[in-house]
Amino acid sequence: MEVILEATGLNTFYGRSHILFDVDLHVAAGETVCLMGRNGAGKTTTFRSLMGLTVPRSGRVVFRGRECTRLAPYRKARIGMGLVPEDRRVFGPFTVRENLELGRIPGRSGDWNADTVFEQFPTLARFASRLGGTLSGGEQQMLAIARALMGNPDVLMLDEPSEGLSPVMVGSLKELILNLKEKKTTILLSEQNIRFAMSVSDRVVVIDKGHVVHRSGIEAFRQDEAVQKRYLAV
Ligand code: ATP
Repeated sequence: MEVILEATGLNTFYGRSHILFDVDLHVAAGETVCLMGRNGAGKTTTFRSLMGLTVPRSGRVVFRGRECTRLAPYRKARIGMGLVPEDRRVFGPFTVRENLELGRIPGRSGDWNADTVFEQFPTLARFASRLGGTLSGGEQQMLAIARALMGNPDVLMLDEPSEGLSPVMVGSLKELILNLKEKKTTILLSEQNIRFAMSVSDRVVVIDKGHVVHRSGIEAFRQDEAVQKRYLAV
């Protein structure tokens, strides 16, 4: 399988604070890989490093065979990296439809457009004319993911998508991800919700204090209660 996104030896700092230590990870075409770790483990920093929002001090990010460690985030979006950040950032004063239009990326095309997105997200279709800021947290998360899909990314990167969602919305998110997997979407997500992560992922990479401490297929992870207890809140 083609490796879509690969990071090797990432060392990332905020000022003098060394946050990521030699982080390696990769995502192959059609896979759903979950980066797991507690609060503050370094999940968001890993996403920021991959996307170029914080440039790692050393290490490499390769996307579809192209070295892009220092490429600006908007250019990474143009080559097919689609990030839904932890804070979602729906545009409150714009309608749902306008939010989706803002997700279009020049030069990128594919199966996703307003029609196919509305088919996938019927609730958003019903709320097409509502302002983004009036949606619930869960609906905003769906809108943020839908907007990222409008850019037809080659990898969809979801930073803690289940955070703050009601159990019902987590269920909808699970259904959505399983649906995207059926469409062979390549997904990298981060999570601390073990049950949710296990229900959607093919592989996990566990990070703790900025170090990758475990990586395995989902079945091995499911059976490894020691790792779950040691590095994740269970
Ligand atoms: P969370 O679930 O809390 O988002 P996370 O695994 O995504 O956790 P990060 O946000 O990547 O973790 O944070 C990793 C470490 O970096 C933490 O110790 C955090 O306190 C620190 N950190 C995050 N942002 C900054 C910053 N702007 N300046 C300095 N330290 C930071």
